[in-house]
Amino acid sequence: MRTMIKNMACLLTFAAGTLLTTFAQDNNKIRIIMLGAHPDDCDQDGGGTAILFAKMGYAVKFVSLTNGDAGHQTMKGTELAKRRYAEAQEAGKRFGVTYDVLDNHDGQLTPSLEVRLQVIKAIREWNADIVIAPRPNDYHPDHRYTGVLVQDAAYMVAVPNILPETPALKKNPVFLYFQDGFQRPNPFKPDIAIDISGVFAQKIHALDAHESQVYEWLPWIGHYLDQVPQNKNDHEKWLAQTRAVKITPEVRTALEKWYGKDKAAQVQHAEAFEICEYGAQPGDEELKKLFPMLAK
Ligand SMILES: [Zn+2]
Repeated sequence: MRTMIKNMACLLTFAAGTLLTTFAQDNNKIRIIMLGAHPDDCDQDGGGTAILFAKMGYAVKFVSLTNGDAGHQTMKGTELAKRRYAEAQEAGKRFGVTYDVLDNHDGQLTPSLEVRLQVIKAIREWNADIVIAPRPNDYHPDHRYTGVLVQDAAYMVAVPNILPETPALKKNPVFLYFQDGFQRPNPFKPDIAIDISGVFAQKIHALDAHESQVYEWLPWIGHYLDQVPQNKNDHEKWLAQTRAVKITPEVRTALEKWYGKDKAAQVQHAEAFEICEYGAQPGDEELKKLFPMLAK
């Protein structure tokens, strides 16, 4: 029985993969949704890639599964959630994406059926071809459970009897993970690496919208509040230094695969993603269609 179910699942995945190819190939309207736990997570991990998609005319949505109402040293509750919502909307404008914030409490996210259905609904309503979320290995329980929740949704988005009021996707999207540095139980594997050097300044400008986080809360909890420049004019320069992600040897190798050795050597800033084993399993040619910035 288990084998039969597994075979059926494989068959469905295969069929969904075929549809996906047709979709991306025919009308060229790739739709991307990134899900994070807090209203600044997608920004840091996928913001550059989102800008590149948006500049090419593709629809990108960020979803924060919590309202961020715990992430501050002096503010909390509704007042903080409101401030962070406004920051997320401003960041969304600067990235060129739509930004949704779900009303779940920060620091209290659980992989419940209720939130799983919220995730399924969000992915279906966006009619997503690409879904990006954190891996379920992370220091923060909200990040971890966001990873689990998206994994739990990965097959269910195509099952019509689940959440029937929101029509199931006819194709299974490709699910990917954001890059992280956690080593156990297994390190992040960069299947795709995107050169974001040309839009890094815009990414920093968008991150700058999350004032309560990048200049207040994160420096406070990280014990570097004294390093935040007093002068607002110096903020983005400082942010660019503190928010730049070092390109690991593995990511450089992935850049070489997608851009060639010479171009890869010039890349200063990159974002990398790992393909999740659930959902559609694209080959390299399909990936080039889904991530058109790689085809250039
Ligand atoms: Zn977070």
